[in-house]
Amino acid sequence: MYRLIDTHAHLDELNNLGVMIEEARRAGVVAMIAVGSEQQSNTKTLEISRKHRRFVYPAIGLHPWQLTRLGTPDIEDDLRWIEDNLPSAVAVGEIGLDYDKRVVRGASKEIQKEVLGRLLETARRHAKPAIVHSRYAWKDALLLVQEAGVDKAVFHWFTGFSGVLKDIIAGGFHISATPAAEYHEEHRRAVKEAPLRRLLLETDCPVTYGRAVRYESRPADIVRSLQAVSCIKCGGQVEIAEQTTRNATELFSLGVAF
Ligand SMILES: [Zn+2]
Repeated sequence: MYRLIDTHAHLDELNNLGVMIEEARRAGVVAMIAVGSEQQSNTKTLEISRKHRRFVYPAIGLHPWQLTRLGTPDIEDDLRWIEDNLPSAVAVGEIGLDYDKRVVRGASKEIQKEVLGRLLETARRHAKPAIVHSRYAWKDALLLVQEAGVDKAVFHWFTGFSGVLKDIIAGGFHISATPAAEYHEEHRRAVKEAPLRRLLLETDCPVTYGRAVRYESRPADIVRSLQAVSCIKCGGQVEIAEQTTRNATELFSLGVAF
């Protein structure tokens, strides 16, 4: 049986969480990193992790999409809350930049960069890893991580250019693979080019995946990420499960041997 870690799941957004966690355990999941998006989601994520201790490990953050609807006082409030509650979390996330024009229309690149810079600074001060969203903003996201002096970060669901990926790997950072590795060309290329020791698995559930058949993902779909990575890398599933689980355990300092 595999031992898998889903390193990026929005558990606060799932219905029937208990059932889904059981299903994930049966699929070989031994731990999950639950990511938060803003204060309410962060609070719920911490609650879920307390209820599923030693299985769900929480990350708290402020997702760039949230900046399109939050005013400056709310953003300041969220940043303070993250700072105060970070000792209860294993990482800062989900944070990042999103240069999709629909996002930039609501939250300028400048605002996104300023907020990300401050969150990364918090991560550095608390010596916590960062879980970074970097859609169409791969280079800027990496530059900010480097500028902040954060030494542990994962660029989740990475679909960026090979040149940026090279610098991510050279900087000692990680990327993670979602079930989109079954069909998404840029994501598949990144998974292929990243060394296995810098790769993590995730679902980003409840994201909807699929080309011909669309489905809403759940934590057990981490098996699809594993199978896709195994195909791309021409490697055994057991070996890939073991290495990615070891990578996640180390990156998030889980302090347990799975
Ligand atoms: Zn996410």
